[in-house]
Amino acid sequence: MASSMKAVTFTEHGGTEVLKYTDIDRPTAGEGQVVIKNEYAGVNFIDTYHRSGLYPRSTFPAGLGEEGAGTVVEVGPGVTGLAVGDSVGYVSRSTLGGSFAEFTAAQAGLVTKLPQGVSTQAAAAVLLQGLTALSMVKTTCQVAAGDWVLVHAAAGGTGQLLCQLCSDIGAKVIGTTSTPEKAEVAKRCGCSDVILYSHEDVVQRVMQLTNGKGVKFVYDGVGKSTFDASLKCLDYLGWLICFGNASGKPEPFDVLRLAEKSARLMRPSLFSTLAAEPGLTASLTAELLQLVQQGVVVPEVHKVYPLSAVAQAQQDLTGRKTTGKLLLRPDT
Ligand code: NDP
Repeated sequence: MASSMKAVTFTEHGGTEVLKYTDIDRPTAGEGQVVIKNEYAGVNFIDTYHRSGLYPRSTFPAGLGEEGAGTVVEVGPGVTGLAVGDSVGYVSRSTLGGSFAEFTAAQAGLVTKLPQGVSTQAAAAVLLQGLTALSMVKTTCQVAAGDWVLVHAAAGGTGQLLCQLCSDIGAKVIGTTSTPEKAEVAKRCGCSDVILYSHEDVVQRVMQLTNGKGVKFVYDGVGKSTFDASLKCLDYLGWLICFGNASGKPEPFDVLRLAEKSARLMRPSLFSTLAAEPGLTASLTAELLQLVQQGVVVPEVHKVYPLSAVAQAQQDLTGRKTTGKLLLRPDT
């Protein structure tokens, strides 16, 4: 097998111009790892934070990509339950290589053998955002039937999955989107009402819809531009789950502002949640893939780009041109 491979790397933080589609060494499987030949890699907003330096890298050259799916081609020492030829999906903290590469060496504990009926495309489209959504709905917070929930960027990758999961539980889901077209997508994902947050007063609409009470949970992956409204939309003892920074990092925050509603502020991270409890990755992934098989969770693929077009994919994502999931194909 060739000792080099195509991958996306960068040697300094910046715009998409820093991304290079280049040749690097093909990884080998270390202790507890498997090497996967990627068929698809999932594009996530977090990749843009690593590239820009919002989440700075300590060493260069660096790679990108935190999820993918494909076939196991090598099994390292100490790995059980996975074999060469298995069709798998995985999440992985990105390293040089990452999933934006032809091959990835991933920790076996974060790799899942795909069940019948779940394709590599579906796995790469749903794992990272789906585990994020499922963990925030069932693990770090528990949404229950009848709860009011507000999901920002409801037509986005993570947003769609949050809406599907919360509405399946029986929660009453309000979404926000920037355009009427995206609002239709959010409604198909289970939102009873969608607020066009670029034009409408979000707090006023939420209070109208909830008879002045507010919502129990706000899922806010938009960050800087929505933080204040999110806080004002909460019911007594409500949770502001501030899980991302698509519009930038929220400003420093005075905790006294929580007092008005005795509100709770959480900043969850998928990887810290998965690391906190042994076995959680396996059980949550199994639950997520079962929900995919049942059609409760339906990942929508916006577009599949060749790996060499990673810059375009990131520009489309940050330019708010997309709904659902963007994928890369490393072999094109
Ligand atoms: P999305 O597909 O949701 O894309 C981001 C969406 O945010 C856009 O489509 C857009 O929707 C909205 N948005 C609002 N303001 C802006 C802005 N100024 N610039 C760009 N987009 C904006 O991306 P992901 O699903 O990959 O990620 C969503 C969020 O979830 C991100 O903040 C990400 O970091 C976070 N995340 C956090 C995780 C964690 O562990 N904490 C794990 C996974 C994701 P619209 O046009 O409708 O406004």
